[in-house]
Amino acid sequence: MRDVTYLRPRTLSEAVQLYRTTPGCRPLAGGTDLMVMLHARTLRPEPRGGAVLDLWSLAELKGVRRLGDILEVGAAEPYTGIIGSAEVQQHLPALAAAARTIGAAQIQNRGTLGGNLANASPAGDTLPVLLAYDVVVVTDRRSIPIDRFFTGYRKTALESDELITAVRFPIGRQVAFRKVGTRAAQAISKVVLAVSLTPARVAIGSVAEVPLRAHRAEAALEGGDVAGAIAAVADDIRPIDDVRSTAAYRRAVTQNVLRGLLDAFARG
Ligand SMILES: Cc1cc2nc3c(=O)[nH]c(=O)nc-3n(C[C@H](O)[C@H](O)[C@H](O)COP(=O)(O)OP(=O)(O)OC[C@H]3O[C@@H](n4cnc5c(N)ncnc54)[C@H](O)[C@@H]3O)c2cc1C
Repeated sequence: MRDVTYLRPRTLSEAVQLYRTTPGCRPLAGGTDLMVMLHARTLRPEPRGGAVLDLWSLAELKGVRRLGDILEVGAAEPYTGIIGSAEVQQHLPALAAAARTIGAAQIQNRGTLGGNLANASPAGDTLPVLLAYDVVVVTDRRSIPIDRFFTGYRKTALESDELITAVRFPIGRQVAFRKVGTRAAQAISKVVLAVSLTPARVAIGSVAEVPLRAHRAEAALEGGDVAGAIAAVADDIRPIDDVRSTAAYRRAVTQNVLRGLLDAFARG
């Protein structure tokens, strides 16, 4: 940690320039993933020392904005801001619900959507929500549809010098969210789902190497076949046994949670 150079740009364009020109540079938003990795030395900045690029204070990456029928959330807006946003509460309640389950208050005060996306953990709690809303990830140079964003275990479509600036959500979609963990707070998901009926979206975390869309289940839902969707989802997922639960448990819970969310939609 002592060898790491700390860079604090004042504007997004300065940040973009520094990221492109500083070897071994790593963006830092809330630091709730990055600092853990640096301290545990599971991440070693290269070349020796490397640099962190602090995005936390960049005004361009903060806030929640209405752009016509789109709601845009800044990449470095912390979960507390997302939860407290009246626009998010009104138009994206599933995003607010997911943000409320992340860590506890300290983590919600620092953790960001951009960090959750770039970290690309299969257990990232906002990621199924982003898939269910078909969000667009906006970067300093392009827009990436979310279904092309996760390319492998903790891998993304981002170039090595590309910064996420915002996430764009369509307004008007009803999405339901449910996280299953060991406890109500400070728990990594065993299974996490976000579901929409129109269009049919079944997005799931912690059941494969990436957060995924359950395409077989979605096809059944498009045809109004709820029982078929619940049966099919077991074939859409690729859960593993690990310290948090077994593959069999994850498969059963995924089906049960999907049934519960679809029942809730049916009850209105
Ligand atoms: C105690 C604890 C509890 C937690 N609980 C949960 C939980 O319940 N659910 C959950 O999903 N996560 C949880 N996390 C993980 C973490 O809080 C989230 O993933 C959070 O969203 C990360 O955001 P951040 O801003 O802190 O990211 P950072 O740590 O700053 O960055 C994470 C990664 O993203 C990159 N990055 C950050 N911003 C950008 C950007 N704009 N453009 C490009 N790359 C970027 C960084 O270089 C780094 O690789 C927990 C972490 C801790 C320490």
